[in-house]
Amino acid sequence: MSEKKIATTAVRAGINSDQHHGAVVPALHLSSTYALKGFNEKRQFDYSRTGNPTRATFAQAIADLEQGALGIVTSTGMSAVHLICQLLSTEDTIVIPHDCYGGSFRLFTHLAKRGQFNLVVVDQNDQQALSQALATKPKLVLVETPSNPLLRLVDIAAIAKQAHQVGALVAVDNTFLSPVLQQPLLLGADIVFHSTTKYINGHSDVVGGVLVTKEQSLGEELAWWANCIGITGSAFDSYLALRGLKTLPIRMKQHQINADAVAKFLQQHSAIAQVYFPGLEDHPQHTLAKKQQYNFGAMMSFEIKGGVEAVKVLFDRVKLFTLAQSLGGVESLISHPSTMTHAGMEIEAQLEAGITQSLVRLSVGIEDVEDILADLSQALEASQQ
Ligand SMILES: *Cc1c(COP(=O)(O)O)cnc(C)c1O
Repeated sequence: MSEKKIATTAVRAGINSDQHHGAVVPALHLSSTYALKGFNEKRQFDYSRTGNPTRATFAQAIADLEQGALGIVTSTGMSAVHLICQLLSTEDTIVIPHDCYGGSFRLFTHLAKRGQFNLVVVDQNDQQALSQALATKPKLVLVETPSNPLLRLVDIAAIAKQAHQVGALVAVDNTFLSPVLQQPLLLGADIVFHSTTKYINGHSDVVGGVLVTKEQSLGEELAWWANCIGITGSAFDSYLALRGLKTLPIRMKQHQINADAVAKFLQQHSAIAQVYFPGLEDHPQHTLAKKQQYNFGAMMSFEIKGGVEAVKVLFDRVKLFTLAQSLGGVESLISHPSTMTHAGMEIEAQLEAGITQSLVRLSVGIEDVEDILADLSQALEASQQ
């Protein structure tokens, strides 16, 4: 990306790239196939699973924002995670965090059960456990920071250094922050990936994924697999996600302002036992957040007093917050990790990861902040009666 600032890169992605009509905005190319110029004379694109101009523009934009060599757009965030698994043979080991995204946890544990690779699940902030995990000489270390739903951080630079010492690659799930707030490749990661369903598209109307590698060769290997197993993203989803991407930096600014106000409001509220938000000074990794992130994001969770009964009333009473999975859209969402996003995890594994019945997660949107606070205020009050 060199000298350009991130907002410029996002807004200008694909602008003026049309050679035929001078269209300012890049076109949506839905064609599944492309004519050859003549016998054995291929053009840049030949078949849309393998390559598509709209998808390529979006992939390049994300690669630029993450400052990587090559971007690969996948059909979903989970297919980006699955794509990484193609780097592993049956004798290889992957180390994952104990509190990673529920869908990722489900994928890794079930594939490991079938013998597709060896799996080590570890609390990556437990230095002794991490060292033991790395002593198994893994091929890959997966990092997710901040984690879902408890907003725990992992020091990307530190873990990348340790992992590289044993010859492991490091892949970081950057979904919760987007490249606007954190750039893992610059901190030493080899692969960064996203569910573009979340902040990157930002309008809750696309399910998609993307993966960016620091090195061209690793990117080419993964792009080969993405075409081989057929998980590349659709042209239409790429078009929408590229459109959403243009406002990512400006959306993130407002998400930040609103999240900061909500976290402070929750922290002093009598109905709340604990707030998990890296922007709060009492967050155990506030200092690390300031070091490796450009800001704190807009995801947070909290423990409500009164257990699951209070959770039910809260969900019943909120009007502006929508009770729904997912995150990162312009609209505010509220959810219950235990029965929703993390339902694929056994209860024991949930508790081990710190996910209790009274834990509530917020994806703070970009509505007017006073309306957001008023809605939470009245619903929290009702929850305690
Ligand atoms: C949503 C999510 C995924 C999976 O993405 P999909 O687009 O739903 O397949 C992976 N990681 C994190 C952190 C997520 O929030």
